[in-house]
Amino acid sequence: MPILVMKFGGTSVATLDRIRRAAKRVGREVANGYDVIVIVSAMSGETNKLVGYVEETSPLFDAREYDAVVSSGENVTAGLMALTLQEMDVPARSWQGWQVPLKTTSAHASARIEEIQTGNITAKFAEGMKVAVVAGFQGISPEGRITTLGRGGSDTTAVAFAAAFGAERCDIYTDVDGVYTTDPRITSKARKLDRIAFEEMLELASLGAKVLQTRSVELAMRYNVRLRVLSSFEDNDENAGTLVCSEEDIVESNVVAGVAYSRDEAKMTLVSVADRPGIAAAIFGPLAEAGVNVDMIVQNIAEEGRTDMTFSCPTDQVKRAEKAMTDAQERGEINFHDLVADTDVCKVSIVGIGMRSHAGVAAKMFSTLRDEGINIKVITTSEIKVSVLVDRKYMELAVQSLHDAFGLERAA
Ligand code: ADP
Ligand code: ASP
Ligand code: MG
Repeated sequence: MPILVMKFGGTSVATLDRIRRAAKRVGREVANGYDVIVIVSAMSGETNKLVGYVEETSPLFDAREYDAVVSSGENVTAGLMALTLQEMDVPARSWQGWQVPLKTTSAHASARIEEIQTGNITAKFAEGMKVAVVAGFQGISPEGRITTLGRGGSDTTAVAFAAAFGAERCDIYTDVDGVYTTDPRITSKARKLDRIAFEEMLELASLGAKVLQTRSVELAMRYNVRLRVLSSFEDNDENAGTLVCSEEDIVESNVVAGVAYSRDEAKMTLVSVADRPGIAAAIFGPLAEAGVNVDMIVQNIAEEGRTDMTFSCPTDQVKRAEKAMTDAQERGEINFHDLVADTDVCKVSIVGIGMRSHAGVAAKMFSTLRDEGINIKVITTSEIKVSVLVDRKYMELAVQSLHDAFGLERAA
């Protein structure tokens, strides 16, 4: 039997009624002749609640216990989905990550998938089971502890299963009907894309578009998984949603494919550090060791042998970054006059493979922001993206004005 992977996100399994609706979709694919692997998220809001419990109990928590707690939301929906399917006379059972087993690294809270053993599930399909419901987001480490794949990780579970089982397709059911030119919550002018290239989706995801977890796109690209994003609330035909595919499969596209934003950014500046060989290593080494994910970096021009070093990192890592820097100062490895954290910033990015062959895209972005009176604090570019850090109060305005300036509401 051909295999299909169907993933349902938090809003799609938020209530028993929605689980029933999702199960009906699964039932239809079984009737179409597929063996189905269903990947479920926790009910919407559940994972946030569990994270809150952990943080309240233990601010500098043991990540292994964090994973034990936050992975549990998916266990509930996996069991409920299997029960719902059984009620519909569809032969189904649930699996937690460790039961599959889905093996991961031991990097708790952001583990990577190393292997999915297919034998258990394949054997059940051979016995006549039609649907394997798997709890997304979780796995088991080499030490036998429960791990999680980072927020939004069920997308990655889904793509990894599609790759491991050679599925015909991996359908990601969510609360929007596809990938848009920007988050449709920010502007009603956002337009659904019928297709988007892997590279563009990868950038959009890593720059904040949470419709797919970045690693899921990486895996889909590497294993050439046919990946679709579609609505769990609408009827979908063959061509519904957005297909994430190779660049060659896209006929025409805009120079800029989309605008992404991330609210969760902080800017930190080490004021007046010595401008000497090794200073960057002395700063960013301890930050990396402390698990701070540094994103953008700017080093100012030196004056009288001293300079300012600015970097950005996720807001919830500011405390950790401050500690790493003051510890390094105390050890005498660096010597700064002040450490300034600005947590009222956000990152806005434009993404498009067309940028490779078009000049002036960054300049247009900067003049658009200038016309809106938005000051740019930090800039980074790569071949197919430009990102800027701006005050958070300008986030919506920046996204909307860039969406307009690059004409994204119209197809190319
Ligand atoms: P799920 O719970 O199904 O995994 P998520 O909340 O993780 O859903 O992702 C879907 C959300 O992603 C949408 O509701 C939308 O607000 C947001 N989003 C951000 N950028 C985009 C984009 N470019 N296209 C579509 N959705 C986007
Ligand atoms: N429930 C997890 C989260 O909220 C994983 C997921 O939904 O993909 O991050
Ligand atoms: Mg998600």
